[in-house]
Amino acid sequence: MKPDTPLHNAPTDAAARKAVTPVICYPTDGLARPDLAPFHAARAGWRKVSETLVPPREARCFDAPAGHFFRITSVQGPQVGDLNLWAAQDLSERFFSGKTRALHGTHLSAGDRMWSCLPYLRPMALITDDCLDWYGFDAFGGSVHDVIGTRCDPYTHNLLAGGQYHHCCHSNLTRAVADRFNLPLHAAEFAVHDVLNVFMCTGFTRETGQYFMKASPVRPGDYLEFFAEIDLVGGLSACPGGDCSTLHSSDQAACHPLVVEVFAPLSPPSGWVAPQANGYDRSHGL
Ligand SMILES: [Zn+2]
Repeated sequence: MKPDTPLHNAPTDAAARKAVTPVICYPTDGLARPDLAPFHAARAGWRKVSETLVPPREARCFDAPAGHFFRITSVQGPQVGDLNLWAAQDLSERFFSGKTRALHGTHLSAGDRMWSCLPYLRPMALITDDCLDWYGFDAFGGSVHDVIGTRCDPYTHNLLAGGQYHHCCHSNLTRAVADRFNLPLHAAEFAVHDVLNVFMCTGFTRETGQYFMKASPVRPGDYLEFFAEIDLVGGLSACPGGDCSTLHSSDQAACHPLVVEVFAPLSPPSGWVAPQANGYDRSHGL
């Protein structure tokens, strides 16, 4: 955080320096915004191939093959979910929250993609529908589905409050990965990464730039829908923060389950081509 009383005097041209107009770091003009109509058309006649109930304060993994859709739906009550994605055949290719944020902004919605980490950097999933797109940004600068948070974890909890809490999203996802991939717990932990905060309402305070959360506007029946661009395994944790209106990293908040459904369309969305490996040659100047 910036100091209340700076130790250094402002230069005489401080106002002019601060008045410089910002430029977008990563203009995405060269990144074609997908036409969602063929994806919406492909829902007609689709077949549900799996349904996974994620219990409160737990996580579950699910498989979403390339060309399938998956939906995360709020049931019973407002609930936030922490989503991880992995390439099904290679756990080292995983969702890259930071670069997705740099490309698409702090909060995702329909038409945005979830990108994989370096050295892969290709689309893992396309968001095809968002029941909360009406929310936009509120008067506090808050919005939903952020890629600015990380995931609640027992290490930060221990650092700030002490104690041992075992149902943070980090631990929930660790147990789910260990189960899905038959890995020892500590090996599974290294596969857990920064998340897409599904349904969570967050932002940064204007005054201090601190990360804030507020009660999620999600209601039962609302969903976030994705199209799997590659063979995926997803991990979803029903955060112990519930709707994240007050607390997380404890058992005190009211929590609800989430449901993940995977659908196989009758035929792929017209015009969809599976993403290729990134075009950089990895020679790094040598
Ligand atoms: Zn959490």
